[in-house]
Amino acid sequence: MSEHGFNPARTRYAPSPTGRTHLGNLRTALFAWLWARHTGGQFILRIEDTDRERIVAGAQEELMDALRWLGLTWDEGPDTENGSRYIQSHNLARYHEVVQQLLDSGHAYYCDCSPERLEIVRRTQQARGQKPRYDNHCRKRALSAAEHHVVRFVMPESGTTLVRDVLRGTIHFENADHGDPIILKSDGYPTYHLASVVDDHDMRITHVIRADEWLPSTPIHVNLYAALGWQAPQFVHLPLVTDHERRKIKKRDDAEHSAEYAEYAEMLRVATLRQRGYLPQAIFNYLAFLGWHPGSTEEIMTPEEIVVRFTLDRLSTSPAVFDVDRLNWFNQQHMKRLSNAELSALAMPYLRAAYPEAAQLSDSAWCEALIAAIRDELVAIGDVVKVARFAFEPPQTFTPEALALLQAESAAVALNTLSAALPQTLQLTHAEAEALLKSVRDQLKQSHNLSGKQVLPPIRVALTGATGGAHLTDILALLSVAEVRERLQRALLHTLAA
Ligand code: GLU
Repeated sequence: MSEHGFNPARTRYAPSPTGRTHLGNLRTALFAWLWARHTGGQFILRIEDTDRERIVAGAQEELMDALRWLGLTWDEGPDTENGSRYIQSHNLARYHEVVQQLLDSGHAYYCDCSPERLEIVRRTQQARGQKPRYDNHCRKRALSAAEHHVVRFVMPESGTTLVRDVLRGTIHFENADHGDPIILKSDGYPTYHLASVVDDHDMRITHVIRADEWLPSTPIHVNLYAALGWQAPQFVHLPLVTDHERRKIKKRDDAEHSAEYAEYAEMLRVATLRQRGYLPQAIFNYLAFLGWHPGSTEEIMTPEEIVVRFTLDRLSTSPAVFDVDRLNWFNQQHMKRLSNAELSALAMPYLRAAYPEAAQLSDSAWCEALIAAIRDELVAIGDVVKVARFAFEPPQTFTPEALALLQAESAAVALNTLSAALPQTLQLTHAEAEALLKSVRDQLKQSHNLSGKQVLPPIRVALTGATGGAHLTDILALLSVAEVRERLQRALLHTLAA
């Protein structure tokens, strides 16, 4: 028993490398990982690559990278000791052995039905209003092995199979709904059903935690366990993660999507989130709450805190919707927990790539001051390139809104007064910038009876091109005095006085 009162669980994540890794996949992996860690057990990564036609090059690497990045480390998997055991295509001999065992015990048989025959059977059943299923034609034919033969598993033809699911209780499946399923294909590869049952048994998996799209396959698995005389693991079928249209999230893109949906779908890709500078701990936290709750109102939690609190009875049984705004909120909350120095270190690669010539980037105090000034505007760290642009480049163009501020009556005098008040130093300290702004405001109040609202907005537009953002004092202290002067002069060309 672990310190939390559970026997150590052995769980697995068993992806097929057939597409891009999205957050729905990772949520399954996360829950399996959490249960293993909570109980002090082991988490296993197994690559289910027996459907050779659907394999996508690079998918396995992408998903392993995604798991590592999120911190979902595995105790056993393709890159650990005896690694090839965790890649199904490398273990055909073991599956063949079990298939032979099933053939010998009369639980399996060879079948040579052609696709054409199966199609006719299917059509006839549909015409009669029956559910399409294999008609078990070859069960009694006693065919022997031959090149194009497949092997089918003998399912009970009547009665019900009970599936006990930790989340859903006991579910009854009518056996008459199933034809005998293929367990070994004519290419010599096992099907998913056989390979996953053999591996879950051999790997001593205690809890099969997977998406509920696999629930209809589970009666086949239950019967396979029984035929082999093996004890079945516990099943935990997780409700789907859907998109905002409540559709299943797919690993492949549908071409018919709008540009807006395409952007939303991009946000489901781990590689995209990582590239945009989302924090792994925020995604971890967000995903954990996508179908689980800690039993309190707490929301922002570290992976360690979630491990301690994670139990299966707090999993939800209804589908969870992937919500970008909520993900962004989690990310911002986790960013708040980081110091300026930490955020600055994370932002640096983005800034260096975007502004390779910027000498300021080698000044860590300047970088931290920049981050302090703009951090509240970031949703993800990659936003720094856009939000901090003013610190590296003068405004290129002005929006109509910004231009309107430069063309206000007070603008020219505001810009001129600040320009004239600039000292001969290279750079202002924060205190100097503050004092300078105050004196400009006081002066304009006296000479032209201008309020702060008339003075500050045109100055901000002149320096950054934007009508909102960081404090003006911070902006003045981040730019060199020469740069401030130059930007004021350029903006003056847009004022009414020009
Ligand atoms: N290979 C299956 C998948 O890609 C795994 C299903 C299971 O976990 O049993 O989702």
